[in-house]
Amino acid sequence: MTPTVTLNDGTELPALGLGTVEADGEDMAATVTAALDSGYRLIDTALSYGTEPGVGRAVAASTVPREDIRITTKIPGRFHGYDEAKESARSSLNDLGVDYIDLLLIHWPLPKVDKYVDTWRAMIDLQKDGLVKSIGVSNFTAAHLDRLEAETSVVPSVNQIELHPYFPQAELRAYHAQHGIVTESWSPLGRGSELLKASPVADAAHAHGVSPGQVVLRWHVQLGAIPLPKSSNPDRQKQNLDVFGFELTDEEVAAISGLERGRIWDQDPDIYEEF
Ligand code: NAP
Repeated sequence: MTPTVTLNDGTELPALGLGTVEADGEDMAATVTAALDSGYRLIDTALSYGTEPGVGRAVAASTVPREDIRITTKIPGRFHGYDEAKESARSSLNDLGVDYIDLLLIHWPLPKVDKYVDTWRAMIDLQKDGLVKSIGVSNFTAAHLDRLEAETSVVPSVNQIELHPYFPQAELRAYHAQHGIVTESWSPLGRGSELLKASPVADAAHAHGVSPGQVVLRWHVQLGAIPLPKSSNPDRQKQNLDVFGFELTDEEVAAISGLERGRIWDQDPDIYEEF
């Protein structure tokens, strides 16, 4: 069983989940079915990935009870605003074929559009109505989070951010810890970049008899973040989930964090827009 992390609303999330950005030609239902069979219980999708129907089909067909699975989805930029956010959630519920969403996130803050507070108010109401169990955000900076708290008094349970050894985000993670917000890591493996060949990663893999991917995912776990690695390969899926039986030393964690060089995707949330 994967260990869990408790959110500020009292619900629990597995300490590692599956990402679902689809590769060309990929059958997402098959990918998610393999992951559920391997023990994954947290599945990260988004309306804008187009993978909600495949995730929903896999969940419906699985022998794993619905209540044991945590499905995360996200509200895209084109649905920012109070009514639009509710419409987005209805669309996701329909495409997933479920009667509640476990964790709903605002995908990007879009500060120039300036509607993320209205979007957040709709999510607070969706949670009150029981259509969503937990509410959170993605790609929010400390300033965006401060504003949500100041204007609604409701602190997000989760902030899902770009996080990997090239971009360890120490300051934002410290803010999360102070405010009881759980950090989730997107592109936790640097999306298959040369990160997995970097010597602090390779050295730790050799020392612990595990793969470079497992070292990087364990680094996230030891930072207190929930990584969401994406793999369509059942063997890599199993390997990626198997990171709770060894521990990196403080020196290894520090050496891996020392790979810091910045964002991979140049997606600064104060500027980047995605609809
Ligand atoms: P990632 O998980 O860092 O990397 C995925 C890539 O690494 C795939 O090409 C995969 O190929 C490969 N891989 C997986 N496990 C491996 C291993 N053990 N060794 C070597 N290669 C491995 O990147 P990502 O897909 O960008 O991010 C993960 C998830 O985060 C996404 O799927 C999505 O759910 C979420 N995300 C969120 C946002 C946001 O704005 N909130 C943005 C980006 C991503 P195979 O499939 O062939 O194994």
